[in-house]
Amino acid sequence: MDRTVWYSDFRDRVRTCGACSARKEANVPVPSVGNLEADVFLIGRNPGKDEDREGIPFVGRAGGFLTKALSSVYLSRDDVYIANLNKCYMRRNRLPKRDEVVTCFRRFLHDELQTISPKVVVAFGATVCQYLLGIDNISKNSGKLIQHKAGFLAVASVHPASVCYGFEENWPKLLKAMQVARRAVMR
Ligand code: URA
Repeated sequence: MDRTVWYSDFRDRVRTCGACSARKEANVPVPSVGNLEADVFLIGRNPGKDEDREGIPFVGRAGGFLTKALSSVYLSRDDVYIANLNKCYMRRNRLPKRDEVVTCFRRFLHDELQTISPKVVVAFGATVCQYLLGIDNISKNSGKLIQHKAGFLAVASVHPASVCYGFEENWPKLLKAMQVARRAVMR
């Protein structure tokens, strides 16, 4: 299917989703954005308050660090595809429950990965790295590159939001992970 046609349907399906309990806590489910032909596919955990208000992923403070980290490897938001594991804001930024992750993955992220078929996925933060890559201890493993059984390369990364509360420690780790992703695209 043409990707533009797919995206239009995907975005409508996200916006009208009410498949799990998280929907009640959100203003709007937030569809992914970006380049439908992207080699690099970024995955955050779920929208925060700012994203819930605007309906766009990574537009708050964490998004600012993400945009800067992308530009450090000569990429812009328009070059990549930006998704979340869960599409809904969760009250007080609580962690998603397993059934919420599974439901949302089956409905959306699985389909997105298949359709965009990126060369490299960057998984941001402990929850995404644990669920999607089976990688724990993200502080130690940030920047680790693996071959995922689904056919793409994947990089574990600290979450851009972690830079907000631990700049000295996490900013270099985020930059390193982006460099690893950038190099992996060239392979
Ligand atoms: N954090 C995320 O994981 N995703 C967003 O969209 C914003 C903040």
